[in-house]
Amino acid sequence: MPEPAEPSAARFIDLHAHTTASDGTLAPAELIDLAERVGLDALGITDHDTFAGYEEALPFAIQTRMDLVRGIELNSRLNLSEGSTHRSVHLLGYWPSNEPTADFYNWLNSEREDRRNRNQRLIEALQQRGVDISLEEVEARGRSLAGRTHFARILVEKGYARNHEDAFTRYLGESAPTYVERQSQTTEDAIRKIRWGGGIPVIAHPIRLRLTREREPEVLLRLKQAGLLGLEIYHSEHPPELQAHYRQLAEALGLVASGGSDFHGDPKPDVALGTGLHGNLRVPREFLDRMR
Ligand code: AMP
Ligand code: MN
Ligand code: MN
Ligand code: MN
Repeated sequence: MPEPAEPSAARFIDLHAHTTASDGTLAPAELIDLAERVGLDALGITDHDTFAGYEEALPFAIQTRMDLVRGIELNSRLNLSEGSTHRSVHLLGYWPSNEPTADFYNWLNSEREDRRNRNQRLIEALQQRGVDISLEEVEARGRSLAGRTHFARILVEKGYARNHEDAFTRYLGESAPTYVERQSQTTEDAIRKIRWGGGIPVIAHPIRLRLTREREPEVLLRLKQAGLLGLEIYHSEHPPELQAHYRQLAEALGLVASGGSDFHGDPKPDVALGTGLHGNLRVPREFLDRMR
C-alpha cells in the first residue's frame, strides 16, 4: 500500500517574523534556513520600519520552494473617543505580489528618523535615572534600526534588569517611569500610507488594543473606512479562544485574515517560527492566497 499523500492542511505559513535588520536575532539567510527546516510554505518578513531584511533574504529564498512575502511593521497611535486616551497600535503592511512605491520608501526614512529621536530621548531618561548607557552603545547593536529590544539586552548585560521582560517592566515598557513614547502618526494615517504605497494594511496582534468586545467592531470599522484590509487573527499572544473570536470578527467585518508567530529569536525564546508559543498556531496557506 502506498503512503497516503500529505493532507493539504499540512501546508502552513508564517506572515510575521523579524530579522537582524530590526530586532530579531537571526540574520535574513538564517531565517530562510529555519523556515525551510520548519517546512513553511511561505514566510513574511515584517521588520520594524525597514525592508532591508526582506531584501537581503530574497536571493536565499529564491533557491528554495518557499514563497517569501515582503512585509513591514509600523507604529501608530490610535486615538479613542474619550479625549486623551489612546493606544499604541502596530500595523503590518504586505506587498505579496507587487513592489512598494518610491514615495513609500522615502517616507520610511522619516519613520526611522522618528525612531532615532525616540531613542535619544530614551537615553536621556535612562541617564537621568542613573543608568550608564549611551546611544552609540545601543546603535552598535541595532545597526540602522536600534529599538527597545537592543536597549533591553544592554540593560540585562549590565545588571540593571534580570531579563528581557524585566527590562521592559522597569525601564522600557509603557508603564515604566522612564517610558518614552514615539511621535507616531495616527493609525488612520499609517493605513493610508500603506495603501498609497501599494500595500495591504493589517492590524497586528489586536489583543494589545485592549478594546472591550463592545468596542472592537466600532473601532475596526472606523479603521476599515480609512482603508484597513486585514486583521492578524493568529498570533503567539492569542490563545485559541481569542483566535476563534478574531476569525469571526474578521469575517463579520469583511477583513482578510492574517497570522504569524512574531518570531524574534532570542528576545522571545518561547516563540517558535511557524508554530508560535508552545505550538499555539498554524497559519493555513489559504490566508496568503486570499490576500493575493
Ligand atoms: P520599539 O519598536 O523600539 O519601540 O520596540 C518594540 C519592540 O520591543 C517590540 O516589537 C517587541 O519586540 C519589544 N517589546 C515591546 N514591549 C515589550 C514587553 N513588554 N516585553 C518584551 N518585549 C517587548
Ligand atoms: Mn520587535
Ligand atoms: Mn508588534
Ligand atoms: Mn512584530
